[in-house]
Amino acid sequence: MKIKDRLNENRIHISFEVFPPKTDAGYEKVQEATDRIAALNPDFISVTYGAGGGTSKNTAKIAEHIKEDLGIESLAHLTCASSTKDEVRSVIGSLKELGIENILALRGDIPADMQFPSEDRFHYADELVEEIRKHGDFCIGAACYPEGHVENEHKADDIKYLKQKVDSGVDFLTTQMFFENDIHYNFLYRIREAGITVPVLPGIMPITSAKQMKRSCELSGTVFPRRFQAILDRFGDCPDAMEQAGIAYATDQIIDLLANGVRNIHIYSMNKPKVAEAIMSNLSEIIKC
Ligand code: FAD
Repeated sequence: MKIKDRLNENRIHISFEVFPPKTDAGYEKVQEATDRIAALNPDFISVTYGAGGGTSKNTAKIAEHIKEDLGIESLAHLTCASSTKDEVRSVIGSLKELGIENILALRGDIPADMQFPSEDRFHYADELVEEIRKHGDFCIGAACYPEGHVENEHKADDIKYLKQKVDSGVDFLTTQMFFENDIHYNFLYRIREAGITVPVLPGIMPITSAKQMKRSCELSGTVFPRRFQAILDRFGDCPDAMEQAGIAYATDQIIDLLANGVRNIHIYSMNKPKVAEAIMSNLSEIIKC
């Protein structure tokens, strides 16, 4: 089923995310985690994609497993900046053959050394969206950034390019993680004002270790509010306490979003079924209401 059709149903939708192993040796462990997350019966599970395309085979394999074996809808991520156009076309063809209906179209991060393998590439995600559209009837998602994408100095440019991307054929958007809901509400206001009307799924990242927080911050430039910083200062050295506090913080964010009319939540569960299970348990009655 296409995710855009599912999101049209008048109820709360919850989705999770897993990432593929870097090598085939790690596949079984990722599959076990995926199976446990699928047992929570989410509306879909997304599968990330290595920016250089190195994990593309496993992204497709896990996405197929989720859909065919577990009976849960899947969303395969696809990046384009570090691949040639033909390589990207070949991955789209494989996803089509496997019966994958939903793709999250991404540019991917610019390589640190700025060394692109080819000039013959899709430069921005909107070009990738247009290409996917040519290959058939996919439902296409894309990324958005409530705090602005790190490469853009001005938020207005970010919204201008986001509108261009959505107009190229995007069916829904998933946000970069954020830890302050007011940032999301303000972002929604600004994009709606700019004429972007597709569903937006806020991405919630449960931070369960100090190391994860540092990494997340470096990658995304996300702002950590003082309230979260206090949790980290107090519990960062006690792994079990930090995990519990991170789950509680993410739960609290989700409850506030739902209380303010948001109907779709994407949880960056990152191969951690225990965290996904705890959040779903915390929300068990809330998502029925
Ligand atoms: P784009 O939409 O192309 O935007 C990139 C930058 O270029 C932005 O600053 C934008 O404003 C600007 N821009 C866009 N169009 C133009 C234009 N025509 N001219 C000038 N500037 C322009 N990375 C992975 O490697 N694998 C994943 O699986 C993955 N999943 C993700 C999932 C989500 C929900 C999110 C939010 C991010 C994910 N990323 C992933 C990270 C993502 O690849 C990076 O954030 C990347 O830097 C931008 O990708 P994009 O698709 O948003 O790019």
